[in-house]
Amino acid sequence: MGTFSSKLPFDAKHPDVLALYCSDGRFTNAVEKLAEDLGHARIDTLTIPGGAALVELTSGNLGGIETVRAALTFLIQGHHTKHMLLVAHDGCGYYKHRFPYDSPAAMHRRQLADLKAADRWVRGNHTGVEVRSFFARGAEGRIHFDEVGEGGAA
Ligand SMILES: [Zn+2]
Repeated sequence: MGTFSSKLPFDAKHPDVLALYCSDGRFTNAVEKLAEDLGHARIDTLTIPGGAALVELTSGNLGGIETVRAALTFLIQGHHTKHMLLVAHDGCGYYKHRFPYDSPAAMHRRQLADLKAADRWVRGNHTGVEVRSFFARGAEGRIHFDEVGEGGAA
């Protein structure tokens, strides 16, 4: 019981960036740091197991897609979102559970395709929102983000 006061300042203005990524807490702090490195001190977040997998039927299910699309639209319209970050990650439990027979290479391809599809959905439904996609992986004790899709190299 009691009041816990954060040392962080409160800014009543909404961030203009929204990050859609997986709930997996091994990546949470790193995604916030990535956003900061990209110039976004604060972010709106939509986290759900699988993240961008839940935007299209390829890897999502009807209920999940409906929830995620409605939440994206709610946030983008309500908070006047200008930028979106989509992050998929290596070793994602959602993908392992849904596609247990995929090889690691096939899984990686599937996740990249889902990022691309989510990017397309956002751009197609919310004109003017800039989307950047990343694939996160742990290696040598650090988290690395490889940018993928339109804005990136791969
Ligand atoms: Zn995950």
